[in-house]
Amino acid sequence: MPGDRSDRTFDMARTYQRKRSTTGPTEQPVTHDVNLESAALLYEMAALQPTPRSQFGYKRAAKAIVYLPVPVSDLVSAGTLREVPFVGPSSERIIKELVAEGKSATVQAAIVKAGSKGTAVVARRAYRENFLSHFTMQQALAAPMASGVVSRADYRGDFQMHSTWSDGGEPLSAMIKGARELGHSCLGITDHSYGLPIARGMPMEQAAKQWAEIDRLNAKHRGEFRVFKGIEANILADGALDLQPQEAALFEFIVASPHSALRKTEDQTPRMITAVKTPGVAILGHPRGRVFNTRPGVSADWDAVFEVAARLQVAIELDGNWHRQDIDYILAARALEAGCLFALDSDAHSIGELRFSEYALAHARLAGIPAERVINCWSDDRLEQWMKSHHQRRRRKSS
Ligand SMILES: [Zn+2]
Repeated sequence: MPGDRSDRTFDMARTYQRKRSTTGPTEQPVTHDVNLESAALLYEMAALQPTPRSQFGYKRAAKAIVYLPVPVSDLVSAGTLREVPFVGPSSERIIKELVAEGKSATVQAAIVKAGSKGTAVVARRAYRENFLSHFTMQQALAAPMASGVVSRADYRGDFQMHSTWSDGGEPLSAMIKGARELGHSCLGITDHSYGLPIARGMPMEQAAKQWAEIDRLNAKHRGEFRVFKGIEANILADGALDLQPQEAALFEFIVASPHSALRKTEDQTPRMITAVKTPGVAILGHPRGRVFNTRPGVSADWDAVFEVAARLQVAIELDGNWHRQDIDYILAARALEAGCLFALDSDAHSIGELRFSEYALAHARLAGIPAERVINCWSDDRLEQWMKSHHQRRRRKSS
């Protein structure tokens, strides 16, 4: 596709709205994200390099493009592409080819020359569906949407994040400070449970100490900020959690997420449905477990999973970590259709990553999700009731 595509990028959200209003949620990606496509080509070029040093150069350039605040096509037109940090002459050539031709002859030639390594690089394109660059994410946040569609102003707090109680980089008090600086008025802390030692999962004795800290912090911030006591439980191969039911009952809410069997092509619908049905589970975290350019995540009949989640009022997470963007706006539109609730979370492991909630919000807006369906927009009282209802499912079931 030749010519200037920056206008199309700017128009992305409006195009999406037009499509929705006439045909309902589309099955086709409607973004034309030239920054993401440029970065993807640079990542492909990186994967084809013979040395870690040359790989590093392309990766750094790709990352800089992903986080650009403007479309690369504007920089190409203005002749300022090389002013972007880490974009050298080779990266510049690839991006210019993409902007002019819609593809890069340089990358294509490198793929052909690399033989089976090139084939593997091409196969990874399936692991990049419906990701948003920073620029496109910002466009989705700013574009006018139908009334009621969730916006930044509706967003009160983030319900998946990690602190030094597990594999996060910063103490809980610092994460609270970071969230308050973003204008949030509550958060759910979800350090990993003990079944995931690789993520420094928290033994129950540690959890008890964390709750004492949360109680202290909640007393200190009373009336201004509320911390909810959560946990990110790991979904095992059979759909059970890595927590005993009596342990799960002690947290205010549970985010259940898959961290294994994320490259398997076999159907895992029963695993995901079992997790959703587990008493105490309030959020299905990063449901697919996909990672940009790396792995596809869980294969499942998502409509069947969404149907159960909608019935039980378990929120489907849109995980905003840039590498995850899980689930994306196309799948989220199907979950919306199924009647699901949603959690738009950062999955932050540091203060800086709290901003990843913006990617979740952008995907939610592109899917047309109303604020009413987004738990992050609810009052503390409503959140508390909803969390308790998931534990009451436990009592009803066992009595
Ligand atoms: Zn996780």
